[in-house]
Amino acid sequence: MSLTLINPADETVITEIDEFDVPRTDAAIARAAVAQKLWARLAPAGRAAALRRFADVVDAHVEELALLEVRNSGHPVSQARWEAGHVRDVLEYYAAAPERLFGKQIPVAGGLDLTFAEPLGVVGIITPWNFPMTIASWGFAPALAAGNAVVLKPAEWTPLTSLRLAALALEAGLPEGLFTVLPGRGPVVGERLVTNPTVRKVVFTGSTVTGKRVMAGCAEQVKRVTLELGGKSANIVFADSDLEKAAATAPYGVFENAGQDCCARSRILVERSVYERFMELLEPAVAGVKVGDPLDEATEMGPLVARGHYEKVASYVPDDAPVAFRGQAPSGPGFWFPPTVLTPGRTDRSATEEIFGPVVTVLPFDDEADAIGLANATDYGLSGSIWTRDLSRAVRMARAVESGNLSVNSHSSVRYSTPFGGFKQSGLGRELGPDAPLAFTETKNVFLAIDE
Ligand code: ADP
Repeated sequence: MSLTLINPADETVITEIDEFDVPRTDAAIARAAVAQKLWARLAPAGRAAALRRFADVVDAHVEELALLEVRNSGHPVSQARWEAGHVRDVLEYYAAAPERLFGKQIPVAGGLDLTFAEPLGVVGIITPWNFPMTIASWGFAPALAAGNAVVLKPAEWTPLTSLRLAALALEAGLPEGLFTVLPGRGPVVGERLVTNPTVRKVVFTGSTVTGKRVMAGCAEQVKRVTLELGGKSANIVFADSDLEKAAATAPYGVFENAGQDCCARSRILVERSVYERFMELLEPAVAGVKVGDPLDEATEMGPLVARGHYEKVASYVPDDAPVAFRGQAPSGPGFWFPPTVLTPGRTDRSATEEIFGPVVTVLPFDDEADAIGLANATDYGLSGSIWTRDLSRAVRMARAVESGNLSVNSHSSVRYSTPFGGFKQSGLGRELGPDAPLAFTETKNVFLAIDE
């Protein structure tokens, strides 16, 4: 069995990839378990140096990785370069962790009490197709830093950059079997990472539906699990904000990566008194988004990832959809969908479900309380933005919105040095930031009796 990979910008076949089955998955997990024991025994400085070498090799291949992502995923080349550089940065950041995994010395009677942050063993990482290499690195870099081995299953449509990263790890001198990428089907390879007892933790990023299944599977073995799932985030614009800036940046808060972003601010909530003015300002901003050839340096938005996903996104914009205006998109082959602005009712499907495409809904609100109610009227809680010049209101709103990652007067993207993750059904646990390696350890407490 093999996976056929299609270039989303022109629908040409890129290549065929051999799929892993359950026996080959089990064999890779067994090799990872052996490699992990040796890796965990290395001196912390040795693991740190190995991760820095891995970062250096990634740095030397940023352009190659970026072009691979352009072909496989249709990402604009400027964005893809940022993604490859981000993988390097994440590795650099967590290369500092092996030498800083401090335990505690806790004062107790009769002896000495110490805690150790022990590695878990083999960690399984299941990644989605929207940001294949960056999301992979959020799992593998801190997991390796904490002394674990990693087996990673990339999404069926987009395995190429992950496979290349595993090859670069070997080139950098990481031991054979320590970081393995297993292309294959979710219900086969992904499911096996959940059921194989040698895998001690699963890091899953993807849809909420599949995430619930993974969590239920992990419960069987009380397996550790981190989930990064969907979102329907609000971009809340108050009348007292810099309206020009809020409107000019709103398209980039939702249409980046063609809206295939769990952090997409896909609901713009606008205070009613400035709604008309905001829409006047938003229209040219949406028309100005440069959609086209991903290899063009000026391109800001590429195609959707695959035909099947295009059909799903299109189902949210039927002929009678309340379209306020649309941006540009090329015609001809490729899964092109124009940036689209809808003005539906509050309970319409397009206003409540995650579309994961370049479709945004704009809804008016009356006051702060109404904005909070509307922002939180969703099972999701991943990101969001608040636009106001009133500092007190900004803080009140930031505390009231039930979401893991908020930005005030910006649509800040993910930073490797700050924690990332969702409230409610957007996820469980946090990735990135200084504490991420701890999520790949067990706390062990040791008491040493001392003769007084
Ligand atoms: P989408 O619907 O957007 O493709 P999914 O949540 O289905 O998102 O996919 C995210 C990742 O989860 C992919 O790597 C996919 O192969 C994997 N996956 C799909 N089904 C399962 C499953 N039953 N168990 C484990 N992983 C799965």
